[in-house]
Amino acid sequence: MTHRVTLIPGDGIGPELAEATRRVLEASGVALEWEVVDAGEAVMAQYGTPLPEHVLESIRRNRVALKGPITTPVGEGFRSVNVTLRQALGLYANVRPVRSIPGIESRYDDVDLVIVRENTEDLYAGIEHMVGRDAAESIKIITREASERIARYAFEYAVANGRRKVTAVHKANIMKLSDGLFLESCRTIAASYEGRIEFEDRIVDNMCMQLVQKPDLYDVLVLPNLYGDIVSDLAAGLVGGLGVAPGANIGTEAAVFEPVHGSAPKYAGQDRANPTALILSGALMLRHLGELDAGQRVEAALRVVIAEGRTLTRDLGGSAGTRGFADAIVSRLGSAPAVARA
Ligand code: NAD
Repeated sequence: MTHRVTLIPGDGIGPELAEATRRVLEASGVALEWEVVDAGEAVMAQYGTPLPEHVLESIRRNRVALKGPITTPVGEGFRSVNVTLRQALGLYANVRPVRSIPGIESRYDDVDLVIVRENTEDLYAGIEHMVGRDAAESIKIITREASERIARYAFEYAVANGRRKVTAVHKANIMKLSDGLFLESCRTIAASYEGRIEFEDRIVDNMCMQLVQKPDLYDVLVLPNLYGDIVSDLAAGLVGGLGVAPGANIGTEAAVFEPVHGSAPKYAGQDRANPTALILSGALMLRHLGELDAGQRVEAALRVVIAEGRTLTRDLGGSAGTRGFADAIVSRLGSAPAVARA
């Protein structure tokens, strides 16, 4: 069966990572037909928007997309294409597995966390305005419906994936209404999983310290949008950095797979960026498409290449380029059976 997938290469380091990932996924033997569409600054002049309607239509039609990072102007300019796309398609769950990869030097070698971030509201609702010239207000939206939905997703994920505990992360001591509602919603949902999945909560600042000192105490984390964004980068730092952190945006109508990292413009076009995060996002996509064996083989081949330590990108202390790293995975997929745990 051929899977038709929307591919948004993105900008900055996106296009070269997308090319590398495409080769690796095709080498897995799965039949993939790519519908390539562009979004971001580059399409503004032609379509008058960084997220043209045909991009959304392509994802709605194919129900699955692989997406590279897209640059967002800081403090001015258009609204984040990444955030708009998640909201427009109702991709309410941002799932980011964070796992140590043997061969990557980091402070811990046994991190195994899953971040489940609410993806549609909170301060990312984009409701901001100036109050006079010298003050600005951003509105934080938290609803019971979206909070219960993401909590249910986290618990269902825990059940389906044999995880033991869900930790809700919040700042309900200060934001008693908004974060209070998020926490209350998590508690409501947790009650129906009692005896099956453990539940606890942590205040976000303490959570950050705990993750740095004792990541092994945690399993699945469920967070509102902003804390989820920040804690994702912190967690990526525990396992080797942004170059190796994959993600999935899941909704009822579609799923978009993309790395945690952004477009790292300073490395664009230099054959230098690490494609691991996008390749692992692609492996998550293969599993979502029902290609469990291929997803496992891609991840295993990548882990073997990293464990061997001969072909590592610069962020991991090596000297390989984006293409050379992908070549090593492709040759591993095409020849010897991969042996790493995936
Ligand atoms: P970034 O993730 O692009 O880069 C931060 C740093 O992490 C880089 O300078 C680099 O040192 C490292 N890094 C990231 N990805 C890497 C990779 N694949 N290989 C090696 N090193 C890597 O974050 P930023 O600099 O804050 O943001 C740059 C742009 O990306 C901004 O416009 C931002 O809005 C956008 N962004 C997009 C997304 C997305 O598309 N989903 C996510 C985050 C940021």
